[in-house]
Amino acid sequence: MSKRVVILGSGESGTGAAVLAKAKGYEVFVSDQGVIKDQFKKELIASSIEYEDGQHTIEKILTASLIIKSPGIPDKAEVIKKVKAAGIEIIDEIEFAFRYLKGKVIAITGTNGKTTTTLLTYHLLKSAGVNVALAGNVGESLARKVATAHYDWYVIEISSFQLDGTKTFRPDIGILLNITPDHLDRYEYQMQNYINSKFRLVQSMSSSGSFIYYSDDAVIENEMVNKSISPAKVRVSLKSNPSVPVYFNGNEMRFSLNGKFFSFTQAQTTLKGPHNLINTMSAVSAAVLAGVSIENIGMALKTFVNAPHRLESVATINGVEFVNDSKATNVDSVVYGLGSYKGPLVWIAGGIDKGNDYTLIEDQVKEKVRVLICLGKDNEKLKKAFSGKVKEIYETQSVKELAQLALRVSEKGDVVLLSPACASFDLFKNYEDRGAQFRNAVLQLKDEVENNRSQKLEVGM
Ligand code: ADP
Repeated sequence: MSKRVVILGSGESGTGAAVLAKAKGYEVFVSDQGVIKDQFKKELIASSIEYEDGQHTIEKILTASLIIKSPGIPDKAEVIKKVKAAGIEIIDEIEFAFRYLKGKVIAITGTNGKTTTTLLTYHLLKSAGVNVALAGNVGESLARKVATAHYDWYVIEISSFQLDGTKTFRPDIGILLNITPDHLDRYEYQMQNYINSKFRLVQSMSSSGSFIYYSDDAVIENEMVNKSISPAKVRVSLKSNPSVPVYFNGNEMRFSLNGKFFSFTQAQTTLKGPHNLINTMSAVSAAVLAGVSIENIGMALKTFVNAPHRLESVATINGVEFVNDSKATNVDSVVYGLGSYKGPLVWIAGGIDKGNDYTLIEDQVKEKVRVLICLGKDNEKLKKAFSGKVKEIYETQSVKELAQLALRVSEKGDVVLLSPACASFDLFKNYEDRGAQFRNAVLQLKDEVENNRSQKLEVGM
């Protein structure tokens, strides 16, 4: 068998896979239908890896003995159909990297909360001096990490699309945070297909591994009843239930793991909101199972800084806190965004609706939101869903105007929360762009308000 690997898609994961494949002696060809970013092109050239972009040359692709595909390419893509028809093995970059990885793995999946939990788990291990890598959907690809250094532990964020391309991937510790409808277009609009994809996380795990999961999630719990799962089960719950090893009793997070009993309050952490209790309990459990001491965990919880755009407190202006939760692109994450505050709130939402069911947040909105500001091109659905349920509704498509408007309509003690429940592509490049523009506008407004104030003081002197 010729050792020829073809990599479809050359973003961070494709380029990482190419570098690893080259290091392992494969003949490598990279093919990307889109444009390969300059930084990756340079890397491919420097590593003498042959590539093409703007097209898939099928004849060249079909000479491979192994195909590594970007998780972004769906099965129904023409090129994948042809590769399948030719009977060539197709895997994901994570699966490929795993085949060469020596060390232990903590893998984290779920519809929401992956990045936060991955970063926190990594931080807990890293702060304790563990030789640990952060990889997957966040930061560098796993293949690149495996190609360039050795680590004792790998903390990996893994999406359902990546899980779809795994076969032997076997984490030592797996975390499943939640399963709510998302990306169903990739799963033939069958929720069960999406659930099965998430459960691929545990398919190869052995009885020596541990599976940490959020057991209040009805979808997960139902699946646990119906599936036979080999690893040790570690349930995490927000309900006060001492029969569960990890739970929140309304006051503190309680853990009973490996014969150790301990607790933390959320005030001992840097994260807010009920969703982050789930994320923290899961990350702490993984760290304990990986051998980190409770003392080290306690210290690291106090110094964790989450990625931006996730309930990121941007600034306080005239006693009004502005929070950027631009990453909340579905209703489920807004449930937790709103749930992190007592109110009153000025809530900013809108963008491209992915089939949102707003009844999920209706009660919270009625209780906490005074003003809704719609930030989208087409806000009809949002306005219809919440008119009569909040005092006032405004619309804007300018972020600068948005910040000013939000300040004008808020009162001291309010929180202005950008938690859109929608994708951003109507007005922005992506959620990062939306969050960054919001942050800049708020910081600029803060400067203006403060400059104004000091000018007034000077004039008054
Ligand atoms: P992901 O990487 O899965 O997209 P993030 O950590 O980036 O997850 O968080 C995405 C959004 O989901 C944030 O807006 C956050 O408020 C919300 N979120 C975070 N953790 C959870 C959770 N455990 N359950 C539900 N929503 C969550």
